[in-house]
Amino acid sequence: MYARKTWNKQPFMLQLTGIAYDQNGSFLQGPAQAPPFFRKMDADGSANRYSEEGFLIDAGNSFTDQGDLDINDLEPAAAYTAISGHIANLVQSKQPLLTLGGDHSISYPVIEAHAAVYGPLHVLHLDAHTDLYEDFEGNPYSHASPFARLLEKNLLASLTQVGIRTLTPHHQDQIRRYGVQLVEMRNYTENWISTLKGPLYISLDLDVLDPAFAPGVSHHEPGGLSVRQLLQALQQIQVPVIGADIVEYNPSRDQHHQTAMVGYKCMKELMALMLRNKKSG
Ligand code: MN
Ligand code: MN
Repeated sequence: MYARKTWNKQPFMLQLTGIAYDQNGSFLQGPAQAPPFFRKMDADGSANRYSEEGFLIDAGNSFTDQGDLDINDLEPAAAYTAISGHIANLVQSKQPLLTLGGDHSISYPVIEAHAAVYGPLHVLHLDAHTDLYEDFEGNPYSHASPFARLLEKNLLASLTQVGIRTLTPHHQDQIRRYGVQLVEMRNYTENWISTLKGPLYISLDLDVLDPAFAPGVSHHEPGGLSVRQLLQALQQIQVPVIGADIVEYNPSRDQHHQTAMVGYKCMKELMALMLRNKKSG
């Protein structure tokens, strides 16, 4: 008899984890409570588990749920270390990982841990804000600064920021200094999609969406993308996606889980993208 070749039967698996941390927010807290709400949207039965392109996104078949890192009692430096270790453990398998925040500060250690495995990463950052402050209120781990930290450490092969509508002169200096590709809302087109390179990491701050569509965020910045514009852009991405995060969901500002459901929809579409564009081999 022939032994069953298990490697042939193993489906391509993604991973999911959550980081319950919001001590680096500059305005409100609440995102530390976010990860269980995404799971609640998955479990409560109001939506099915298929992406719009027909990928089944369910725990056990398409992804392994690695649980949440519950660290909201830690100081920023200790939280950075804890997140770094947690994500390093998960990404060493090279199974693409979706991380649920948390405020946007988590993306600094999360993306750094990905870069340690994959090398300098191409990053797509969807946000109303650049999060490029060199110094914000003296906190190097601030949610206003993760991309400044990553660029200072040369961990990014490219950074494309989409949805920006809050530029200051300091941000413009940082954008020139680091050669960031900037796609502002005031003259938005989809031309950036075909310029992306892989392997790609996608960091999704839900405030990239207009607050009319996603009010459950800490910073309401009018004039953003519609949910449909965001999904349409994601669905056009053709390069391999090795990791992503969804951050800044703030349940204390949500109504009837409306924004939690937007986040859950984005979770399914991002995971579908990781499955569709998986690296061959
Ligand atoms: Mn952000
Ligand atoms: Mn933002």
